[in-house]
Amino acid sequence: MQSDIEIAQEAELKPISEIAEAAGLQQSDIEPYGFDKAKIKFDHLTNRPMKGKLILVTSINPTPAGEGKSTVTVGLADALNAGEKSAMVALREPSLGPVMGMKGGATGGGYAQVVPMADINLHFTGDFHALTAAHDLLAATLDNSIYQGNVLKIDPRRVIWKRALDINDRALRHVTIGLGGPTSGVPREDGFDITVASELMAILTLSTDLMDLKARIKRIVVAYTYDKEPVTVDDLGVAGALTVLLKDAVKPNLVQTLAHTPAIIHGGPFANIAQGTNSILATQTALRLADYVLTEAGFGADLGGEKFLDVKVPRLGKHPDAIVVVATVRALKHTGGQALADLQNENLDALEKGLANLGQNLKAMQSYGVPVLVSVNRFTSDTEAEIKLIQDFVAKQGSQAFLTEVWAKGGAGATELAEAVQDAVEEKSTFTKLYEDDDDLMVKINKIVKKIYGGRQAVLADKAQKQLAEFKQRGWDKLPVIMAKTQYSLTDDPKRLGAPKDFDIHIREFIPKLGAGFIVAMTGKVLTMPGLPKVPAATKIDIDENGQITGLF
Ligand code: ADP
Repeated sequence: MQSDIEIAQEAELKPISEIAEAAGLQQSDIEPYGFDKAKIKFDHLTNRPMKGKLILVTSINPTPAGEGKSTVTVGLADALNAGEKSAMVALREPSLGPVMGMKGGATGGGYAQVVPMADINLHFTGDFHALTAAHDLLAATLDNSIYQGNVLKIDPRRVIWKRALDINDRALRHVTIGLGGPTSGVPREDGFDITVASELMAILTLSTDLMDLKARIKRIVVAYTYDKEPVTVDDLGVAGALTVLLKDAVKPNLVQTLAHTPAIIHGGPFANIAQGTNSILATQTALRLADYVLTEAGFGADLGGEKFLDVKVPRLGKHPDAIVVVATVRALKHTGGQALADLQNENLDALEKGLANLGQNLKAMQSYGVPVLVSVNRFTSDTEAEIKLIQDFVAKQGSQAFLTEVWAKGGAGATELAEAVQDAVEEKSTFTKLYEDDDDLMVKINKIVKKIYGGRQAVLADKAQKQLAEFKQRGWDKLPVIMAKTQYSLTDDPKRLGAPKDFDIHIREFIPKLGAGFIVAMTGKVLTMPGLPKVPAATKIDIDENGQITGLF
């Protein structure tokens, strides 16, 4: 079989105006970016009801073996769009960090991809560059304020707004800035976060219009004064300029799948260090246009799934009508102890052990009261006995597992799953929240640890303990929480695979993100600036004299 990029480069794309028309948009509703991409003027559509059924695709805890959430999301949308009703994809934008690092792109795979694949994975419509520029403008104005007499009395030791870059660069995690003498600023310790972890990214994905974006930007806390009072973007007076830099980035991007299903790709926070879902504006726009909207939440159900349901849903004004949990034989066997190099061989023992991880993630999703289905994303090495073992296990958990072959066959590989989803979204369901808005921060966190991760409780380090007391005083302790946790394990230790029991989650510090409207709990050793692996994906990417790209998966 050809590589993802070969398939994508051979595809014949339709002009974006035709895709827009098929999606029910007028030409005046879009701003084309070349032949095959466009921004959607979402404010033209607000009088249309959100009539679509929402299907959330999530998965077991990811492994290096690959699960294929985006692939299944795209293939399932193609399968549904082939029927009488219309379907649309609403995905996140890829970050250059994983594209050039380890994980690869985020445009699906095989015959279930969104295109133009290379553009979407690289600079796309410039949203991430705009976010990086806005993030760093804020950092620059903050340091300039300290340098120019420090009227806001910012304590340089208590600045919490770092700089940002959309590249994995471990060397920038901790830096010293302001060296070079009196005219080069005030020296202080600083650091970089990857752009997808920036609070501006979270704000962009949670905003409901341009003015909401600006109001949220104003509320960002960037530092504390010598009297330990918060300093905000409003105090620095640059909310207007940041909003101007993001005026186009806030508009959802329209592209297509290989089967010409309209796809909206917008916003891209990681699910292990941020809220892990695409933008509210993208999902709302898709719900106004299509009968079925397929969206994906990052990493496993414990991270992206939980955040979608607890943080995004209340702001979206719509909960999913069905949830699809993606699993693969390979990933389950790896979680069950089989070595990566050996995954092509049948191993029912390892699979049986690994199923515990699917069980916990399935149970977590079922606790929200919405129908949950399982998609077994088929790899060529999967055996009939292995697939049957998963199906029997899932049936015992009160759900159903469907073999999905969209990677090899496109939409035709998800006919059965599509039929089941069509039935599931019509079922009467009662969405049950995991926590109430006015639950205390620790009540919220402990509910996540127990019900979603299957653990015991959260344990706070001294710093986090002190912060909690301070947040209570400031009235920040009722905000929703974003758990920053490794994606590889239900615990905070990436090496503990499967479904461990009786574990604690260790919170080392909290980061207030008042613009986004949540508190981030940093657990275990999770980092907000990833590093590159020994052999970065970048070393395999190339382009020839005809512009043909290779190595982009
Ligand atoms: P996720 O969204 O879970 O991160 P993706 O859908 O992006 O996963 O897929 C990751 C990689 O795995 C892609 O390169 C894709 O081509 C590959 N992949 C997905 N499903 C299959 C499959 N069934 N067989 C072979 N490769 C697959």
